[in-house]
Amino acid sequence: MRIPLDRQGPRPLYRQIEAYLREAITSGRLPAESRLPASRELAHDLGVSRLTTQSAYDELEASGLVAARAGSGTYVLTPPEARRSIRRAEWPLWQRQIQVASCPHETDAHDQAPTDRSSRQISFAGGIGDHRLFPVDEFRKVLQAVIRRDGAAALDYGDDAGHPGLRTVIAQVLTSQGLATRPEDVLVTSGSQQALALISSALLHPGDAVLVEQPTYRGALDLFRRQGLRLVGIGVDGQGMRVEELEALLLMHHPRLIYTIPNFHNPTGVCLATPRRRRLVALAARHNIPIVEDDFVGDLRFEGRSQPALKTSDAGGGVLYVSTFSKMLMPGLRVGFVVAEGPIHRVLVHAKRAHDLASCNLVQRAVCEYVTIGRYQTHLRRSGRACHRRRDAMVDAMRRFLPVDVEVDPPRGGLFLWIRLPPAISSTTLLPLAHHAGVTFAPGNDFFVEPRHGESFLRLNFATHPPEVIVEGVKRLGRAMRRALPSSGSRG
Ligand code: PMP
Repeated sequence: MRIPLDRQGPRPLYRQIEAYLREAITSGRLPAESRLPASRELAHDLGVSRLTTQSAYDELEASGLVAARAGSGTYVLTPPEARRSIRRAEWPLWQRQIQVASCPHETDAHDQAPTDRSSRQISFAGGIGDHRLFPVDEFRKVLQAVIRRDGAAALDYGDDAGHPGLRTVIAQVLTSQGLATRPEDVLVTSGSQQALALISSALLHPGDAVLVEQPTYRGALDLFRRQGLRLVGIGVDGQGMRVEELEALLLMHHPRLIYTIPNFHNPTGVCLATPRRRRLVALAARHNIPIVEDDFVGDLRFEGRSQPALKTSDAGGGVLYVSTFSKMLMPGLRVGFVVAEGPIHRVLVHAKRAHDLASCNLVQRAVCEYVTIGRYQTHLRRSGRACHRRRDAMVDAMRRFLPVDVEVDPPRGGLFLWIRLPPAISSTTLLPLAHHAGVTFAPGNDFFVEPRHGESFLRLNFATHPPEVIVEGVKRLGRAMRRALPSSGSRG
């Protein structure tokens, strides 16, 4: 691409490149979906540094004119002017009646948001592990082997409840962990998010109450809110859900479902203490309330001994156990599952068929193969070691580089550190300052039934980056905190 540049003029080169591309995009000479040359290539063509072209691209991206797509390149988006004129156009009446105000903006979906790979921001906001640790090559080989072996059968819809081989492997893995499971009680879903959606659509009606930990996983809150459910929060401390408060809440609100994350809770990272586990299951059974046990990252433990799943204390059919390969393997596979005995299993299989017919057969077969040949265990051990180092690096960096003492209880597995800020700082005032300093996090408000209760908290994902990037990110966070503080509260 040839861009005329005035190398003697006062205007920085990156601004000139940005202005040229901006004009080309807004005039339509570069239409939506055109791919810009790689920044390195453009830098070479123009005889400038790569930093110059990358800065121009960053500015265009910040204006919403282009977007970098991981592994693919930088693409032109529909210019804002055009988007505005579409919005101004007369939508059909039914469209105008749709309430969008309650839908969070895409970029607010911190749990799904991967690290911002396109910019120099360091994101601790995401809800998944490090894409650099994804076993891409090994998985490619497994996929190829499955296609070669199974041919067209791998590309058919497959069994309603999920690929039988994968259900068997899931049952074997759970049984080896002390949760005796039969393959016929497993339903494979498109991620555990779908398992949650199927369960709530099968068991709940608008207006029903659901009991959730407070704070809890934002995706569950979003789902339950969308279904018009009433959210009842129960507090969490260092031992997990405060089960002592449960009975009073059950009697007061009559929830139709209890949703809990007993291992490495999202967002706090705590594990539910064993006596509380037993008590929770017994109380739910006494009050005839199903429990959804969301074990999204239970296998990612790097210290201490694991506690028994809630489902192991269940006399049968009371607990629906949900898990996923998203965190421990790769989220884009969209393979999760629910273990449910009794009539609910049939209802869930039927609901699954009604929602999306089936999860991808090929991917299920590949996951089955990957787990069977022992790659999964090796990958888990490797990820666990990396996460352990990263957790330590983050905790250590926080002690060294934050200007205030923050309360944090390092978890023994999982992905998250949950931070209580000193009273002088709120996470909503800190977030834009952090962004400006080049780091992001998930603000506490995202995780509360009443968002304002989360003002003093923030969640940091320690698993996304290698230690040296973590240290730099925490330094930036420290800088943002210094700016957020009234000058007295600083640790120096
Ligand atoms: N449960 C919890 C606690 C989560 O954090 C997530 C994802 N962030 C999910 C369920 C859903 O994940 P997936 O659909 O990818 O399995």
